[in-house]
Amino acid sequence: MVGLLLSRPLAAAMLEAQAGSHGCERPVHSQSCASSAGPMLEVRPGLYLGGAAAVAEPDHLRQVGITAVLTVDSEEPDYKSGAGMEGLRSLFVSALDKPETDLLSHLDRCVAFISQARAEGRAVLVHCHAGVSRSVAIMTAFMMKTDQLTFEKAYESLRTIKPEAKMNEGFEWQLKLYEAMGCEVDTSSAIYKQYRLQKVTEKYPELQNLPQELFAVDPTTISQGLKDGILYKCRKCRRSLFRSSSILDHNEGSGPIAFAHKRVTPSFMLTTGSQAQCTSYFIEPVQWMESALLGVMDGQLLCPKCNAKLGSFNWYGEQCSCGRWITPAFQIHKNRVDEMKMLPVLGSQTRKI
Ligand SMILES: [Zn+2]
Ligand SMILES: [Zn+2]
Repeated sequence: MVGLLLSRPLAAAMLEAQAGSHGCERPVHSQSCASSAGPMLEVRPGLYLGGAAAVAEPDHLRQVGITAVLTVDSEEPDYKSGAGMEGLRSLFVSALDKPETDLLSHLDRCVAFISQARAEGRAVLVHCHAGVSRSVAIMTAFMMKTDQLTFEKAYESLRTIKPEAKMNEGFEWQLKLYEAMGCEVDTSSAIYKQYRLQKVTEKYPELQNLPQELFAVDPTTISQGLKDGILYKCRKCRRSLFRSSSILDHNEGSGPIAFAHKRVTPSFMLTTGSQAQCTSYFIEPVQWMESALLGVMDGQLLCPKCNAKLGSFNWYGEQCSCGRWITPAFQIHKNRVDEMKMLPVLGSQTRKI
C-alpha cells in the first residue's frame, strides 16, 4: 500500500496506458510488474486485489498466506510446480479488459469461489493483469453481494482504498444489471435475456450464425411446462406466437419527453396505467422468426401462418412508444395479438397448427 501511495500518479498513468492498449497481453517484464502489483492490496482482512505481478513470484503469495487465487485475465498464471504452491486453490476466468467482455455470466461462480475460500479461512487474491479493471469489477461484485451494497456504494468504497481502480464502462453496466437482478444472475430474467441478446448482437454483427439457444421454443411445438399460462396468438389466424415468459419487460421511458422532437397526439397523452404507454410487446426471438432475422439488420415480423404484419425487428434497436430504446428489438404490436389465459389442464394439449 505504501509503495502504491508513493508512486501513485506515475503508476496510475502507466496502468491506464497499459490497460488501454495492451491489457490483454502477457506482462511486459520491465514496466508492468513494478506498477501493477505493488504487489497487492488488502481490501478486506484476508482479501487481496492485485495485478499480474502478484502471482509472478510465489513468495508474494506465501508472505501474506494466500492460498486461493482468482485470476481474471487472458492467460492463466503459470504457477511453478514445487514452489510451495501445493494446496493452492485457483479459479481462472478467461476475459479481456474490454467493454464487450461478458463478465456478468461468471459473477456467480467468482463470488461463490471467494466466499467459499473465505469460509474455509483462506486468504484470497483476486487479480487480473493491471489490477485496475477486471479484478476490480469482480471485487466490486463480491462486495455488493456480501455487504449488500449498491453498485455505486461498493465501487466507491473500493476506490477509496484503491484510487486508481477504474473498470471499463461495459463492466460498470454489467454490475448495474447484476444489482438489478439482486446480485444473483437469473438467466431466465428479462434483464439477462436482453443482455444476452445484446452480447450476441456484438458478437455476430454479420448475423451468419445465430446460436439456437437464443430462440424461444415455438409455442406450437411445445409440450414442455406451461408454467405461465399466457399465450399470445395472431389476432387474424389464431396461430400461437409466443408466451408471456418471452416478454422482455422494460421500464417506461420518459414518454412524451423522449419524443420531444415529434408531435405528440393528445390521445397518446391520455393513456393511463403502468404499461399503457407501450403499444408493443418487446420479446425474445422465437424460433419461427429465425429465417427473417438472418443476414439482415432490420425488417418486418410476419405471422408464420397467415403473413399478417405483427411488428418489426431491428438488431440496432428500436424505440418503444413509451420512449425507451430497446436494443436489439423484436417488437410485436399489442393490437395484432390476442392474449389467451390457458388453464394448466389445457396446457398439455397444445394444438399443433
Ligand atoms: Zn415501452
Ligand atoms: Zn396469423
